[in-house]
Amino acid sequence: MTITPETAGRGIEPTDFVGVDRLLSDEEREVRDRVRAFVDERVIPVAADYWDRAEFPFELLPGLGELGIMGGTFAPEYGCAGMTNVAYGLAIAELARGSGSLSTFMHVQSGLAMTAIHELGSEEQKQKWLPPMARCEKVGCFGLTEPGAGSDPGAMTTTARRHPDGGYVIDGEKRWIGNASFSDVAVIWARTDDGKISGFLVEGNNPGFRADVLPRKGSQRSAWQTHITLEGCRIPEENRLPGASGLGSTLSILTHSRYGVGWDGLGQASDCYEVALAYAKEREQFGQPIASFQLVQQKLVEMVTEISLSQLLAAHVGRLKDDGALDPATVSMFKMNNVAKARRTSALARDVLGGNGVLLDYRVMEHMADIEGVYSYEGTNDVNTLIVGQAITGLKAFSSAPPKSPEPEKDGRAQRVEERAE
Ligand SMILES: Cc1cc2nc3c(=O)[nH]c(=O)nc-3n(C[C@H](O)[C@H](O)[C@H](O)COP(=O)(O)OP(=O)(O)OC[C@H]3O[C@@H](n4cnc5c(N)ncnc54)[C@H](O)[C@@H]3O)c2cc1C
Repeated sequence: MTITPETAGRGIEPTDFVGVDRLLSDEEREVRDRVRAFVDERVIPVAADYWDRAEFPFELLPGLGELGIMGGTFAPEYGCAGMTNVAYGLAIAELARGSGSLSTFMHVQSGLAMTAIHELGSEEQKQKWLPPMARCEKVGCFGLTEPGAGSDPGAMTTTARRHPDGGYVIDGEKRWIGNASFSDVAVIWARTDDGKISGFLVEGNNPGFRADVLPRKGSQRSAWQTHITLEGCRIPEENRLPGASGLGSTLSILTHSRYGVGWDGLGQASDCYEVALAYAKEREQFGQPIASFQLVQQKLVEMVTEISLSQLLAAHVGRLKDDGALDPATVSMFKMNNVAKARRTSALARDVLGGNGVLLDYRVMEHMADIEGVYSYEGTNDVNTLIVGQAITGLKAFSSAPPKSPEPEKDGRAQRVEERAE
């Protein structure tokens, strides 16, 4: 095919050098192909424009809901598809291939907010929120990070004090919270009167809740992250997540979402490679296609090799998750590897495209910028490295200082690894 700004990234056969397709079931292929068609027809034609204007593509939400991928593995009784974790991952990878901003929306909506309600919520909370969120008719967000508490969420200062008339009053600030400016429900993490961290559902029309979009963002520009201010934010007793007790209870939520983010890197890397390969075959310099030059082939081979290894890891990790045998440290290795390899792949692809590589029309530049955000969220590359380091040495290298808080799950993202190591 001829590669132009109009065709870049569309209608290209999925990269499958080592035959990973053989590891998939018919149902998983069907989910992948369904999302791929949606991305080719609806997402790629508009993604660069939305990214350029830093606007969220609200027009895509109904179609995204109809795809039936939100809350992927959760049961049909909650309006979800009950698909395998591999199918869910394939859906994320395809979405990320089209737009890292849209896959980031999905991580927040499905991987974080819906998962928190599904894993920690009451039956009433699940019935109220999960079906409309699965259809993207309602939107959720997940407020963990604070201005002073990023990699160390145990340092959070947001409080949820009991009100004498019942319920709670939440005060504090949250930073980097995706979707919050248009959320119907926010999962907010805060310290209760006993100093323990718990989770609460704050509905979007609460007068004590404000979410301001972070301006001038250079990554995932068409996903909106916000600074949340909670001031005397009153919520009823029934909006507490009954299953949330201590920061450690966020671990399974973060692990689930982090699993999805590993597939995100794969989708973005694949698109970068596929665009670069098509471009290199088409573009001529010195009277021949640039794909015929050894140095260009070396870059393409490095890309497809890393993508193949990332695919194999993704499929294996997904099967472990389906079997209930997935360790959080393995998820950290998966996210760390696939996103770091996507970062390298996007840089190589951008190089292969020469000057055109910095134009948004060819998509690679958008991926390259978007991967920077992914590299830092769901545990930075460093934090995931330290989780794996702790798993293999039994030694925790997060901090040399004694814990500031008596709460045992100081770093919730590493707690289960610590427990196992000790
Ligand atoms: C695009 C985007 C979307 C996001 N969406 C959400 C969201 O929806 N909800 C939410 O709650 N949060 C969200 N986040 C926040 C994200 O989880 C944090 O950015 C992340 O946890 C890192 O925290 P920080 O930015 O404060 O960096 P810091 O923790 O300040 O880290 C800065 C640097 O120090 C390094 N570092 C930190 N601690 C250690 C250590 N012990 N050893 C070695 N190195 C260390 C880090 O690896 C990093 O390189 C989002 C972030 C981004 C960029």
